[in-house]
Amino acid sequence: MLTSNKLNIFNMDLRDLENFFISMGERSFRAAQIMKWIYHKHVIDFDTMSNISKLLREKLAKCSELRLPEVVSELVSKDGCHKWLIRIDNSNCIETVFIPEIDRGTLCISSQIGCPVDCSFCATAHQGFNRNLTTAEIIGQVWLATNSLGGYTHGGNRIITNIVLMGMGEPLLNFCNVVKSIALIQDDLGFGISKRRVTLSTAGVVPALYRLRDISEVSLAVSLHAPYDKLRDELVPLNRKYPISELLKACNYYIAGKPYRRITWEYVLLDGINDSVQHATALAALLKYIPSKINLIPFNPFPEARYRRSSPETMTRFRDVLMKHGLTAITRRTRGDDIAAACGQLAGEVQARGRGRRTSQVF
Ligand code: SF4
Repeated sequence: MLTSNKLNIFNMDLRDLENFFISMGERSFRAAQIMKWIYHKHVIDFDTMSNISKLLREKLAKCSELRLPEVVSELVSKDGCHKWLIRIDNSNCIETVFIPEIDRGTLCISSQIGCPVDCSFCATAHQGFNRNLTTAEIIGQVWLATNSLGGYTHGGNRIITNIVLMGMGEPLLNFCNVVKSIALIQDDLGFGISKRRVTLSTAGVVPALYRLRDISEVSLAVSLHAPYDKLRDELVPLNRKYPISELLKACNYYIAGKPYRRITWEYVLLDGINDSVQHATALAALLKYIPSKINLIPFNPFPEARYRRSSPETMTRFRDVLMKHGLTAITRRTRGDDIAAACGQLAGEVQARGRGRRTSQVF
């Protein structure tokens, strides 16, 4: 892939663009004009932007560009899910998934090439870690998926209604680019997705959660997967640095004073590992006082996996224990597993850096 010294406009949110135009001696309203072309009309050719003078278009083309990553392939599953393999550079590709449902369409985007968190049940972790994605590479996934799905709306209805940062990578380890991407996703001049329909999923980077609360309006999903530190240390190694008690404190802070906020807890059920009645009871005790919803996720196998999926009976029993304790718990339906697009299956193509394939020493 060719590199360029020009400024990529996909890396800029509204404020950046206003400053960019001011630095060129132009008026700041040009920022809104260009964003409408890019995100509303889906135009990325300066020459087509008819309300921008020829002179300014030429100036823009000299110092800036609208550069997107490149779609390598698109797979469509039997249940209608789409998975795109997206080339970031000569050695690395990431994956992006669209999950259509009757009342919504959810796009699951990636924030890093691979992931350094190294959760033991996750295919992305087995790829190792290369680097953070830029804002343009994160936002580019939304732009390319929209393009591939035939535009923003179908029959007057939005095609992509929800966005989850739940693909490859730990979003809070790529804080600035992720926060800027969320701003562009939610901005009416950007993709205009409502605040409550954008969800960031984290394994629990505690200091970043404190920062995030005050600068971004995004719903939070937390990958918990175990009610005890000893077990969570094994499943989510980040727990060794930020144990459950600290994570819960940060989550309570995240929702404090924001009555509409609650935490979605992700809990992948692994046969014989974290799926007993005792685990469910301990989980219920842990979350009793936090406004919560618990997503129970059937484990989705991948070639190197050392776990098995819990039986349907075990999953039902686990959910029933949580519900008996007054918690909202749902078992997530597996989608897109025939194209390896289900939760925990995203792999892409990652040229891992650092010692060995796994790089959990990064954080
Ligand atoms: S589950 Fe999420 S945080 Fe954990 S390794 Fe996979 S992508 Fe990273």
